[in-house]
Order: sequence, then structure tokens, then C-alpha cells
Amino acid sequence: MFKTKYAKRVFEALEARLSHETEFLQAVHEVLLSVEPVLESDPKYEKNAILERMVDPDRQISFRVTWVDDAGQVQTNRGYRFEFNGAIGPYKGGLRFHPSVNPSIIKFLGFEQVFKNALTGLWLGGGKGGSDFDSRGKSDGEVMRFCQAFMNELYRHIGANTDVPAGDIGVGGREIGFLYGQYRKLTNEFTGVLTGKGLGYGGSLARTEATGYGLCYYTAEAMRQLSNDDFTDKTVVISGSGNVAIFAAEKAAELGGKVVAMSDSGGYVYDPDGIHLGLIKEIKLEKRGRILEYIKNRKNAQYVADKKVWEIPCDIALPCATQNDIGVDEAHKLIKNGVKVVAEGANMPTTPKAIDLFRESGVIFCPAKAANAGGVAVSGLEMAQNSMRVAWSFDEVDAKLQIIMKNIVEQSLTTAAKYNLGNDLAGGANISAFERVADAMIAQGVS
Ligand code: NDP
Repeated sequence: MFKTKYAKRVFEALEARLSHETEFLQAVHEVLLSVEPVLESDPKYEKNAILERMVDPDRQISFRVTWVDDAGQVQTNRGYRFEFNGAIGPYKGGLRFHPSVNPSIIKFLGFEQVFKNALTGLWLGGGKGGSDFDSRGKSDGEVMRFCQAFMNELYRHIGANTDVPAGDIGVGGREIGFLYGQYRKLTNEFTGVLTGKGLGYGGSLARTEATGYGLCYYTAEAMRQLSNDDFTDKTVVISGSGNVAIFAAEKAAELGGKVVAMSDSGGYVYDPDGIHLGLIKEIKLEKRGRILEYIKNRKNAQYVADKKVWEIPCDIALPCATQNDIGVDEAHKLIKNGVKVVAEGANMPTTPKAIDLFRESGVIFCPAKAANAGGVAVSGLEMAQNSMRVAWSFDEVDAKLQIIMKNIVEQSLTTAAKYNLGNDLAGGANISAFERVADAMIAQGVS
């Protein structure tokens, strides 16, 4: 329930206009509720209509993508790029290729990205894009032709100082390579217009690992500050087995945790001996296979089809797959089994009611906007290296990532304390990001 008339009015107007955009409304509701203490403390935000301006993207681009499959059949998909807020830097955020993609999903991701990027302390605005293209079962040639067709429209809207896309679900190194090649062909320019590029053509070391590693750095720092604890001997359960999940599993194990379960959209694997990450990488990254194959080579492991991984007891839960993955039922199971920390690697994987349950039960809750900001932070570092025409070592980038993630925890807790929110990492993160973006908007006048 809103306490301020201003947040209530803005949300109700948005709800009346966009009632079908449920994911977007969910993301906006969470942010507006948590920035109310700032709205109450200073009338300048209402006077400058900051909320109205923040919930409306600067620009929404949607387009048709037409390509030819291996059978010679013409195929069409929808493409999107929503440039949400450019007050503190070029629009920045990933591209998601997944059949579930629609304007509401792109909007919720773009809205969250604005706040996440502000938290990194770098000069990055927020945006997001993607398509309902499903790369599963497609040949490399089909993926390439789709990416080229997608870029045939996107290229005119992006640029190293305008809008810099990256990967997300369904967009990894292969897709970024095809997209970048087509951008270069169309513009005859070699610039840092995409991040997550291959190391041989302008990519940054540690970008692939950044979101998963950053998630664990953030989680470790939050645990250190809030419970004087760490990953040592903790049982860790992770949903997903893509880019974020795999490198979260790698760093969690390096920090002393034992990862016992991971999943994909078909089901999960539980390995009481600890997940063999080399095997997961082989199945998911090299063969682009299904996680079910894991049990062929691991005698004590089990595969459970069509179930969520959250029924496995753990100390640390890292949702790294997709939105609304942990609802009330899953939260009850996790709490009953003694979970101590829930840290979001995916965007908005926990529903608002589940978050409330974690808060009431004293579980440390690490919100996505802050905890998974490591990916975009290293994308920002990739842009800096591209501008300077230099390449930093893995250790240099990793050291900067660790500092950024620790700073986000520190900044969120300091802000939470300033507004009497106790140890609310989510409230602290939302408010400090809001202040940074809103103050830049006000300083730049009405636009
Ligand atoms: P990937 O495509 O590499 O992996 C996604 C994983 O999640 C796969 O295991 C996939 O299973 C699973 N998954 C996807 N959709 C669903 C679904 N509807 N139900 C169940 N499982 C699903 O994506 P990323 O690892 O890059 O992204 C994962 C999450 O992290 C997303 O929320 C993304 O927005 C977020 N994120 C990513 C960043 C990055 O740098 N890549 C940065 C910040 C956030 P399957 O293979 O069966 O489809």
C-alpha cells in the first residue's frame, strides 16, 4: 500500500493505461513503494514530475525481423529496443532472445536496468531489447541469419555514445559476434557499440564471468556485514544453468560453498557430492544440451523433471534463471529448510509476496538490481577499454568488479540507515539509484 499520494497517483495512472503489462507494473510498484521516504523528504521530485518521467521510456522501438530458415522458408519475429533513461549515460542493457519476450518483459527489464546501472557508479543510462526468437533447435546458420536481420534494423538506433546493447537470456558470445559483424558491415565502423564481445575483437576479460562472480562478491559482502558469516561450507542451490548460473556456481565453490543443485527449463539435477561444474559447462556451453544429460556420468546424482530446484534444502539460494521463479510456495519451502540468504542473479526472480516472507523470516535478501549489477559493470569497463584502445588483464578487471560490488552493498546499507530502513538492502539500493538518476534529470532541466 502506498503512503504518499504522489506515488499512488502515478502508479494508478500507469495501471489504468497498461493493465496488461503485468511484469512492468510489478517492477514499477516495487520501486515506487521503496522510494516513498525520499518523495516525502523533498517536494522537488513531485514538482519536476520525476516519477511520471521515470516510468515512461525515452523511446520505444519495435520492428519486424524477417529471415530465411535452413529449409528456405521465410520466418518473421518481433524485435524491440526500449531506450528507457539516458540521464547518466548512453542507454545500456542486454538483448533477450526468448519466445516469452513481449513489450511488458522488455519494459520491466529496461526500467530495472536504469536503477542497476546507476548503482554501479559508472556513466550508464538504462535500456533493454530483444526478440521472441527461439534459438533452441536452430542451426548456427539460422541464428546468424536471424541476428543479421535483427541488426539490419537495430543498427540505426544504437552507437557507442548512444545505446550499447549486450547479452541476456538466449544471447551469448555467438549471437553477439553475429550482431557485431553485421553492425560493422552496415556502418563501416569498429566501435564499442556492443559489449560481451569476443576477446579477439574488443571484448573484456572477465565479462563472461562478471554477473555470476559479481553476484557472489555481493552476497559474500552482504553476509559479512549483516551476519558476520561467509560461503565456507554453505550448501548452495542455483536455478538455471546459463551464463549467470554457471559462473555463480564457479565462484560460490571457490569461496568455499558446496553447490548441490542446478536446473534448466526442463527440470533440475541434484548431486549430493557437489555439482561437477566441468560437466555442466560441457553440456550447456559446448554442446548446448539439456541438463538431464548430467546424470549419465554422475552415479549419485538425480534428475527431477518439471520441478523447481527450491525443494532442495540449502543455506544460500541463488535464482539465476528467469523472472518470478520463487513465489510464495517456493519461499515457504526454502524458509522451512533453513535458508539463510537469497541472492538474485536473474532479474526479478522473486515475487513481492515471497520477498515479504523472506524479510519476515530474517533471511538476508539481496535484490537483483544490486546483486547482479556485476555484468553491466564490467560491460561499462569494456566500453572504457574500447574508448581508450587498451585491454586490461583478468585480474585488473576482476579487482575493479570486486570493488564495485562491495561499494554497492556499502552504499545500499548507508542509504537504508539514512532513511531508517534497518538492513533493507533492496530499499537502500532503490533509493540510492533513484536519487542519482532523479538528481541528474533535474539538473538537466525539463526534457
Ligand atoms: P542464459 O540464456 O545463458 O541462461 C538462462 C538459463 O535460465 C537457462 O538455464 C534456461 O534454461 C533458464 N531459463 C530461461 N527461461 C526460463 C524459464 N522460463 N523457465 C525456466 N528456466 C528458464 O541467460 P543468462 O544466464 O544470461 O540470464 C539469466 C538471468 O540473469 C536472466 O534473468 C537475465 O536477465 C539475468 N541477467 C543476466 C546478465 C548477463 O550478464 N548475462 C546480467 C544481469 C542479469 P533453458 O536452457 O532450458 O532455456
